[in-house]
Amino acid sequence: MAEQYSYSKLNQFERCPQQYKFHYIEHVPIERHVTIELFTGDVLHRVLEKLYEARMLGKVLTKEETLALYDTEWEGAPMSTLKVSGDIMKAGDFVKHGRSALENYYDTYQPFDSGKTIAVEQKVDFTIDEARGLKMTGRIDRLVRREDGTVEIIDYKYTRGIPKRQELERNPQLGLYQTALYQLAAKENWPDFGDVHIRMIYLRQGEEFSARLEPDVLDEIREQTLQRILAIRRAKRDDDFQPSPGPICAWCQYVEICPAKRHELMVNDELTADEEAKRGQELAERYLVLAQEEKIAKSAKDAIKEQILNSARNLKVTRLSGIRGSIGITDKEEAEFPSRTKDRDAELAISSAVKEADFDLFELYANLNLRELYKAYDREQLPEALREKLSQFVTSKHTVVLRTKYNKPAGDDD
Ligand code: SF4
Repeated sequence: MAEQYSYSKLNQFERCPQQYKFHYIEHVPIERHVTIELFTGDVLHRVLEKLYEARMLGKVLTKEETLALYDTEWEGAPMSTLKVSGDIMKAGDFVKHGRSALENYYDTYQPFDSGKTIAVEQKVDFTIDEARGLKMTGRIDRLVRREDGTVEIIDYKYTRGIPKRQELERNPQLGLYQTALYQLAAKENWPDFGDVHIRMIYLRQGEEFSARLEPDVLDEIREQTLQRILAIRRAKRDDDFQPSPGPICAWCQYVEICPAKRHELMVNDELTADEEAKRGQELAERYLVLAQEEKIAKSAKDAIKEQILNSARNLKVTRLSGIRGSIGITDKEEAEFPSRTKDRDAELAISSAVKEADFDLFELYANLNLRELYKAYDREQLPEALREKLSQFVTSKHTVVLRTKYNKPAGDDD
């Protein structure tokens, strides 16, 4: 059976894999709290659905009728369960803002005859990878056939911010990702549609953005989606859903059972703390202090290292003695060859230089063990012509090493 994913599933996994696990794998029962902004967006979607359903039947709802639909939606709203973010705006402000966004929409688009609406809230399933049986599912807000025969996918957004137009044009995946997926869906579900465009209408800001994504961009989006799905599959296979704590935890309804947040709640007296929880807090505190001291000591050591080096150079010595021991100083320029992992091309060039200059040496070193070849270069054991060839690959590396040696405590002699 095909595995089915949705835009919100992919997003939740990327925001926090642990939250995805609680939600989609363990189905942990929770009392769902919806933010008032999300709810306002849903209300607007429902009103616009009714507005265009009526339009499809040839009726244009008046502005008063449309706003009445909005008010009715709020009359039945579960206000006590809606989460209001921030302290400045109250629930009533969000309701008013949504209403004025709807008024603005009505004034801008009435009598709603730019193109013929052919479907509203259309559910679509579409394939991301046939061979692996991976599908996506989603809902298109509105489908419109324009006068020139092209089809438009309309997506309403009720977000706080909108990506800059230049950003969207430069990188359509940025803000268009979800809508672009619907262009893929349209291609599969209605192959006779011909040209398909997408239009995002930002209800809050009264702005819109239209685009027609080229096949190569759609291929990229399909590939990107496949990779996101495969990441979820790998997490399932390895049962590896790491928590990703951050600002979203403030809204997470699994916080009390989350392994990355539970102890913090205990320490802050928001959950009952037992003896083990208190011990955990003490240990964490001790470790944090030690780690901080270690960091301070490391930067003090780094600062004195340079001074030690200068002092040894001035004294022309390779060891500085203190009372409790001494420090041996290595301060030299070394030849460095490109590393095998970082520069494969340079490594191949070195091999062919050796092969060309001396096949026996190639057999001896380059074909088998470049490290030995580099040592031989360093020890000046290679023929001059080959040394010269290799010198073009060599860079110089300054190495400084300090080695400490402590005196044996008195009376500790064997
Ligand atoms: S509390 Fe934070 S880290 Fe834990 S599941 Fe929720 S979002 Fe993820």
